[in-house]
Amino acid sequence: MSGIRPTGFLHLGNYFGAIRNYVKMQEDFDCFFMVADLHSLTTHPDTKELKANVHRVLAENIACGLDPDKVAFYCQSHVRETAELYLYLNMMAYKGELEKTTTFKDKVRQNPENVNAGLLTYPVLQTADIILHRAKYVPVGKDQEQHLEMARTFANRFNHRYGDVFPEPVAFNYNQTLVKVPSLDGLGKMSKSENQMATLYLADTDDMIRKKVMKAKTDSGPAEKNTPKPDYIENIFLLMNLVCTADTIQKYEEDYNNCTIRYGDLKKQLAEDMVNFIAPIRNQVDAILNDEEGLKQIMQKGAEKANKSAGETMKLVRETMGLNYF
Ligand code: AMP
Repeated sequence: MSGIRPTGFLHLGNYFGAIRNYVKMQEDFDCFFMVADLHSLTTHPDTKELKANVHRVLAENIACGLDPDKVAFYCQSHVRETAELYLYLNMMAYKGELEKTTTFKDKVRQNPENVNAGLLTYPVLQTADIILHRAKYVPVGKDQEQHLEMARTFANRFNHRYGDVFPEPVAFNYNQTLVKVPSLDGLGKMSKSENQMATLYLADTDDMIRKKVMKAKTDSGPAEKNTPKPDYIENIFLLMNLVCTADTIQKYEEDYNNCTIRYGDLKKQLAEDMVNFIAPIRNQVDAILNDEEGLKQIMQKGAEKANKSAGETMKLVRETMGLNYF
């Protein structure tokens, strides 16, 4: 089970941190993937763009290979039981532990005039989304590690207080370690809303991709053989690892270690490999977006599957909590 907020265009971080795993997991597991529209309200209360953004997240995931026939692909607000479980879990989440969450502290800093209770209890809502389907594996990027730790805490707390209902959810990635896709300027991670010129979006045109990659920070190259790479160069190699062939990476590693590296050439190669990776995804999105009826059917089918699973879990939750009086 996993989700993505409809707060803007999806980017390479969303792809390599999350969606790539969704597409593989759909072959191996019973999966629930969700557009987290309720989560987006914690920071984006204006709903004018919400419908278009929900449609975009659906279309971009499908263009990346997610198959709505193989998984439950749904919208968070279409599963009303989420709100009920969120309520129960809120009684088990303490103000002190929620205030210590890194993402909460970051968001308070970024937006001090809208520190709402939903923002504070964001990890509780996320836990409700996950354990509502009694999910075990949660494919997410590295930025979600702490939230997953909290999900385990809340699930375990429920189990100890009322009885065993939930498995312990764990952050999942096929390659073991969780991924953080850095921004092109090396100053943070790629993101839907911040640092847009240093983020590669799945909707970027070929020219925009080239422009962004060519602007990535480099220097005049190492002066001595086999010197460690500065952070911003390490980042470029990390991005190459995502889309370039092993031969290309090896060539530039050798050039770096021999002090013969030409960063202009490296960035041109990286830009072309990024274009080749992103363009086929981007080119499919418009056709999917134009088919509003198709998107509606996908959401309805997804909601049906998610509601069935949620209904079963909540029946068990109410019984286990002792909320069955008839
Ligand atoms: P969000 O965009 O915050 O709704 O996140 C959706 C998914 O993408 C989550 O699983 C995140 O962990 C993942 N994600 C977002 N940004 C990055 C990034 N820069 N690197 C790796 N994963 C990311």
